[in-house]
Amino acid sequence: MHRKEGVTVKNYNVLHILELYHIYKGMDQQEKCKFYQCKCDYYQFFVKLILILASLASLSYLVSDYQLNGHTIMPTLIPRTFILAPLLFYILLEPKVKSYKMKALLNYLLLNLIVFATIWAVYHLEIKTHFSEGATIMNFIFVICCLSARPCYGALAYGVFFLEILLSHLVNHYENLDVILSLNLPCCVAIMIVHCILNLGEFERYLTSKKLEHALITDPLTTVYNRHRMNQLIKDNKLISDEEQISIVMLDVDFFKAVNDNYGHYVGDQVLHCLGKTLMQEIPGNGTVIRFGGEEFIIILPGFASERAYEKMEAIRQKIALSEEASVKFHISAGVVKYNGDFEKSLKAADYALYYAKESGRNRVYWDQSF
Ligand code: GH3
Ligand code: MG
Ligand code: MG
Repeated sequence: MHRKEGVTVKNYNVLHILELYHIYKGMDQQEKCKFYQCKCDYYQFFVKLILILASLASLSYLVSDYQLNGHTIMPTLIPRTFILAPLLFYILLEPKVKSYKMKALLNYLLLNLIVFATIWAVYHLEIKTHFSEGATIMNFIFVICCLSARPCYGALAYGVFFLEILLSHLVNHYENLDVILSLNLPCCVAIMIVHCILNLGEFERYLTSKKLEHALITDPLTTVYNRHRMNQLIKDNKLISDEEQISIVMLDVDFFKAVNDNYGHYVGDQVLHCLGKTLMQEIPGNGTVIRFGGEEFIIILPGFASERAYEKMEAIRQKIALSEEASVKFHISAGVVKYNGDFEKSLKAADYALYYAKESGRNRVYWDQSF
């Protein structure tokens, strides 16, 4: 890796590709599906555009048919224009399917139907030997389709492609089947290798974007979420839940300014880091810890009635007060309320509850049952 005018440029080599393959292999199926969906969402528009253009371009072979058939287009007119029907079907159906599997199915179906239409047209040609060039040109579209698909789907579609060639030999009786195969098999192997390598390059792009996404919503000092995550939760309405109760907690370090003033900012940062670590350990997986700002944190506890949330926070408060992990002892105060369906109002109520905890002496949790 080297830097050029502020941009980090990656030098790819075989070892790096193998390393990526190793990471890819170790990933679970669900994560792989997410990756392929992401890759498909990114490239599908281009693949679709090129498939539509390729289908329309296949009509232009009427010109070469005209030359090969002694200046008449009639025999191949129907086979060549046949592709317009599946193309229309593709244009109408493709936007309706969302999953990368279904998109790949439609892409490869259209591609193999272009092959089918070509074979059908060749049946009506007097000179059939030029099918070798026609079939070889199809490999361009295989390269394009691989951009949005899983490599194994590409291999499957290639299987269908060769099956179409072999089966059509039964009716078309190609004089040069050996040449058709010897031209296309190496293309197929080369394209499948490129497909796998491009897939790993795309996989790395996916991993990088996930890391960036994570960095964008994570506070580096405390490792809990930052306010971006809170805004996301509010925007996505992720807090809405009909079945379970949700509790909201506002938490603040007591006399934190004094920690900074007496021991310095480095120790202050260490306190915040320890607090973040403890909260991450103690809050269950479905809970969310957000650094709201400075030494204030918001905790969202789905599945917690406010009484249980109070007990949980009281246990955390005691643990922190007794902890010797940071180089200085510190304690926290917290306000707990039930989430009432309005995040902003619930947050305000939790802030009031925190204020009461501070007013009544600090190092305590106040549960506002009236809210
Ligand atoms: P109280 O018990 O009423 O909460 O008193 P306090 O001193 O904790 O409250 P105050 O809001 O006055 O102090 C918060 C301090 O937190 C002020 C600010 O300098 C410090 N602070 C905010 N962010 C950071 C940080 O990232 N690192 C460090 N070391 N200090 C921070
Ligand atoms: Mg404070
Ligand atoms: Mg504060």
